[in-house]
Amino acid sequence: MSIDRETPVNCPARVTLDAAQLAFFDALPAEAPSVQSELGCELELGHEGSHAALGQQVDTTTWWIQWTLSASEVNPYTWCPGRGAAPAVDRDELDCALFLGHPGEHSSTTRSREASAAS
Ligand SMILES: [Zn+2]
Ligand SMILES: [Zn+2]
Repeated sequence: MSIDRETPVNCPARVTLDAAQLAFFDALPAEAPSVQSELGCELELGHEGSHAALGQQVDTTTWWIQWTLSASEVNPYTWCPGRGAAPAVDRDELDCALFLGHPGEHSSTTRSREASAAS
């Protein structure tokens, strides 16, 4: 995997889901394929709080694996509205592809746009 210099650096933390967590995701009525057993943190490098990776989306509910060095859990969130007001449903149309209330900056898809708008 090559690193694009224009891509903001994400947190390098990874998590391996346990059997119960995989079973939970398999039981969700999601159209998406099964969740991978190992996921990487989607937050920005150096973020505060728990690491987080998107597991599955069911309608407007997104299930995120959040973990620390000692524990991991799965929690439901809605999408972060980014700078907009209305919650988006399709991840491709989001200002930010993270969960509501996430720590750190909005996700990489919007960071360049925010940077250009800030000047
Ligand atoms: Zn992280
Ligand atoms: Zn955000």
